[in-house]
Amino acid sequence: MTTVISNYVGGQSTVAGERTQTVFNPASGEATAVVALSSVAETQAAIANAKAAFPAWAAKTPLTRARILFKFKQLIEDNIDHLAELITREHGKVHSDAKGEVIRGLEVVEFACGIPHLLKGEHTESVGTAVDAWSLNQPLGVVAGITPFNFPAMVPMWMFPVALACGNCFVLKPSEKDPSAPLFLAELLRQAGLPDGVFNIVNGDKEAVDVLLTNDDIEAVSFVGSTPIAEYIYSTASAYGKRVQALGGAKNHMVVMPDADLDQAVNALMGAAYGSAGERCMAISVAVAVGDVGDALIDKLIPRVQALKVGDGMNPEMEMGPLVSREHLAKVTAYVDSGVEQGAKLLVDGRTLQVEGAEQGYFIGGCLFDEVTTDMTIYQEEIFGPVLVVVRVPDYATAVRIINDHEYGNGTAIFTRDGDAARQFTHEIQVGMVGVNVPIPVPMAFHSFGGWKRSLFGPLHMHGTDGVRFYTRKKAVTSRWPTGIRTSAEVVAEKGAEFVMPTMK
Ligand code: NAD
Repeated sequence: MTTVISNYVGGQSTVAGERTQTVFNPASGEATAVVALSSVAETQAAIANAKAAFPAWAAKTPLTRARILFKFKQLIEDNIDHLAELITREHGKVHSDAKGEVIRGLEVVEFACGIPHLLKGEHTESVGTAVDAWSLNQPLGVVAGITPFNFPAMVPMWMFPVALACGNCFVLKPSEKDPSAPLFLAELLRQAGLPDGVFNIVNGDKEAVDVLLTNDDIEAVSFVGSTPIAEYIYSTASAYGKRVQALGGAKNHMVVMPDADLDQAVNALMGAAYGSAGERCMAISVAVAVGDVGDALIDKLIPRVQALKVGDGMNPEMEMGPLVSREHLAKVTAYVDSGVEQGAKLLVDGRTLQVEGAEQGYFIGGCLFDEVTTDMTIYQEEIFGPVLVVVRVPDYATAVRIINDHEYGNGTAIFTRDGDAARQFTHEIQVGMVGVNVPIPVPMAFHSFGGWKRSLFGPLHMHGTDGVRFYTRKKAVTSRWPTGIRTSAEVVAEKGAEFVMPTMK
């Protein structure tokens, strides 16, 4: 019998959808389940459940909410192997990498456990005579998250721990390609004592998403995915008066300066370009070789890319698993074809890779291009596969110029021993997250994550203090008590009714 992956609404699994989509194990190509694609009415039902749960959840003290998250954190730790397995079996990434993903999500839960401190407002005694002023950070109501396939646990966890800790209720629309890990997180939240209706999952596609973008009861939308969809989410939800943060695609460059420690740079490139088969928004997909460093860099890279161990992510020997779907494999292969057609030099060709016993899996080996120029499609577009392109530039200034000219600005890195160059780079580069001798500079949970240019639409980044700001609204209170330093009679006698803009003395 086919397993049906349903919704999670009001604290229970709810069967949804006349429409369904097949979920595959990308390492074998086998269909493992079907996921419900929620209708308009089913999505509205999830929102209604969240709305009903909001007043009681918002009324709980921040400490009470934090204690539920503490239990949730413990449950994730107890179940990390199972969670990672769910990810590997639907996404394809190797199990150790899936565990790393869960840990990076867990860090946001740990951050959100500090919410009593993070929600504190500001207070000024005596903004005027016997008048005090302070600010409150209050929850928004029902907020939505729409997330991509490549981090089915971590990206939802960038959002909902902070949103819930702030007192909001949440409706998550995860990727339809790998929905099992988020559903298991919902089950762990239930076990941690989260009241029914506070966290809900609607599986689905555009039909469900469009309800979340337009429904009057959704106050804010967090999105992570590709740039065209991010732009659509941002413009649509904004037009419906919602707060929006929409993170999009990337093309991350790593600059290798002539004075860099080349072994360190090559190790960094291997992990950052080929880890998770390049399906990371912070993957390095362009190596910018400055000056004469290109030949030595390429010589060191070729044997390493050829030696990549590619296979089923559940095999602990493997370094790289399959791509997520047959369609994505075809898309990545077509990009490699286009690179060859447009004149780039393909030094390692992963297109012909066959994994023994898994011929129906969506595997491609690591690909390495040299002599790539900025007018080529493989330079301009996000490939989202294990394809590293090397662009050679004469000097540092050209490296900075091509990065700043690129439409994306998610992450970047410089490898150098020159502190002056590194400082200058961090200062002038038009990219949101920058590494110095760190290839994937993903900020920790207590900092905020977000790119620039067409990698992010909206003013606030995810998690960290930006996350708290996104999921709360400020209220400013100005207060005068009738008794105190002066009696109310004295105050009235002094001022009476005021018809001019009030000013403080
Ligand atoms: P995607 O844009 O195809 O899908 C993301 C989400 O949007 C999914 O939940 C999907 O169901 C939904 N969606 C897809 N098409 C839609 C439409 N027409 N209308 C409404 N909703 C729609 O992205 P993906 O393929 O799942 O993920 C890969 C992309 O995500 C890459 O571009 C990657 O760079 C990006 N990403 C970015 C970050 C970041 O932090 N900037 C992080 C992870 C992934």
